[in-house]
Amino acid sequence: MKSYDLIIVGGGIVGTACADYASEQGLRVAIVEPGPIGGGATAAAMGHLVAMDDDPAELALANYSLNLWEAFTDVEQLEYSRCGTLWVAGSEAEFAHIPAKIARLAAVGVHAELIDRKQLYRLEPALCPGLFGGMRVPREAVVYPPAMARHLLQRARARGAELYDTRVTAITNQGVQLADQTQLHGSVIVATGCALPQLLPQLPMRARKGHLVITDRYPNVVRHQLLELGYADSAHGDADSSVAFNVQPRPTGQILIGSSREYSSESPDVSMSMVRRMLERTFHYLPALRQLDAIRIWTGFRPVSADGLPYLGRVPDQSHVWVAAGHEGLGITTSLGSARLVIDQFLGRATAIDPKPYDPARVAA
Ligand SMILES: Cc1cc2nc3c(=O)[nH]c(=O)nc-3n(C[C@H](O)[C@H](O)[C@H](O)COP(=O)(O)OP(=O)(O)OC[C@H]3O[C@@H](n4cnc5c(N)ncnc54)[C@H](O)[C@@H]3O)c2cc1C
Repeated sequence: MKSYDLIIVGGGIVGTACADYASEQGLRVAIVEPGPIGGGATAAAMGHLVAMDDDPAELALANYSLNLWEAFTDVEQLEYSRCGTLWVAGSEAEFAHIPAKIARLAAVGVHAELIDRKQLYRLEPALCPGLFGGMRVPREAVVYPPAMARHLLQRARARGAELYDTRVTAITNQGVQLADQTQLHGSVIVATGCALPQLLPQLPMRARKGHLVITDRYPNVVRHQLLELGYADSAHGDADSSVAFNVQPRPTGQILIGSSREYSSESPDVSMSMVRRMLERTFHYLPALRQLDAIRIWTGFRPVSADGLPYLGRVPDQSHVWVAAGHEGLGITTSLGSARLVIDQFLGRATAIDPKPYDPARVAA
C-alpha cells in the first residue's frame, strides 16, 4: 500500500495547480486522473485571465491569482498574450457605472482606465457604431489552459509527484480507493470540478454548459479580449440560459467567440439554436465577424457551487479530506490562488487572503 502526504483527485487546472504548489512545499504528492491532463472543463475554457469586480471574495481570489500568473508569462507553450480586457458600454447607464468599477478594482490594486467613445473606436475599429465608451484593464491576458495544466503537472512530477491514470472510486478512512481496488493512504484534496458530488455528495454542484466558436485566422480584426459590461449579469445571474458578447483574439490570429450559459442541458452536443443566439449577440457588437469562417464549435461544463464561490478548504467532519472545486467561469484565472489557499491551510500556515468566504462548511449539510 502506498502512502503520500497528499493525494490529489482530478488533473484539471485546479488539481494540477495543487500538485505543483504542494510538491514545491516538499510534500509527497500523488495525483489521480483517468483522462487527459486538463481534458475536462479546463480544455473547454477560453483562457481569459480576468478580475470581475462584482463580488468582493471572487475579486480577492482573482487578484491574488492574477499576481501568481505573472510567474508564467514566459512559458512558451502557454501562448500567454497580454492583450488586455476592454469592457464595452452599450448604453449611457453602463458607461455611468464605469467609475465605480474602476474604484473597486483600484482598491485591490488592479489598474483600469475609462475609455471614451473616440478612444474606443481607435482601439477597436471593428466595433459597431453607437457605443458609449468602455473600460480597459491593460494587464489582463489570455492563455491556453490545457497547456498550463500539463505544465503544472510536469513541474510537480519533476519534484517526485506520482500520477495514477485511473479513477478514484471512493474516499476511505485513510485515503482513497482506485478503480482497480488499489488503496492509497494519505490526506486527500478532491479537485474533480463538476464530478464533485460523486465523491462528496454533501457539497452541491451544478454543471453550467457553455458553447464556444473559433474562426479561421484573421489577425488584427480584434486586439483586446472584448466583453459587454452586461457580461456579469449573464455570468452571475441565475437565468436558465443566457448569452453575452465575449470575443478573444488568439495569438494564432483566430478569433474565439463566446459565451453562452445553460443549466438545463446535460448533453455535451452542440445546440445550433444556442450558437445562433450567441453569434447574433456577437454580430451586434462586431458586424464584420458575420463574414468570417468558423472552423470549430465546442461545448464544456462550468462547475457551479451552491453560492457561486468555490469550495476551498477542509471538508466538515472528514479531517483528512479537503476540497478545491466549483470555480464556475473563473477557474483558469483563480486556479493558482485556490491551490495556495487550500494547501497553506493544510500546512497550518497563514493564508495570503481571508479563506472564510470559500470555507466548504458554509454549505455542507
Ligand atoms: C465554455 C467555458 C469557457 C470558460 N472560460 C473561462 C475563462 O475564460 N477564464 C477562466 O478563468 N475560466 C473559464 N472557464 C472556467 C474553467 O474552465 C473552469 O472553472 C476550470 O477549468 C475548472 O477546473 P477544474 O480543475 O476544477 O475542473 P476540470 O478541468 O473539469 O477537472 C476536473 C478533473 O477531475 C477528473 N475527475 C473527475 N472525477 C474523477 C475521479 N473520480 N477520479 C479522478 N479524477 C476525476 C476529470 O477527469 C477532470 O479532468 C470556462 C469554462 C467553460 C466551460
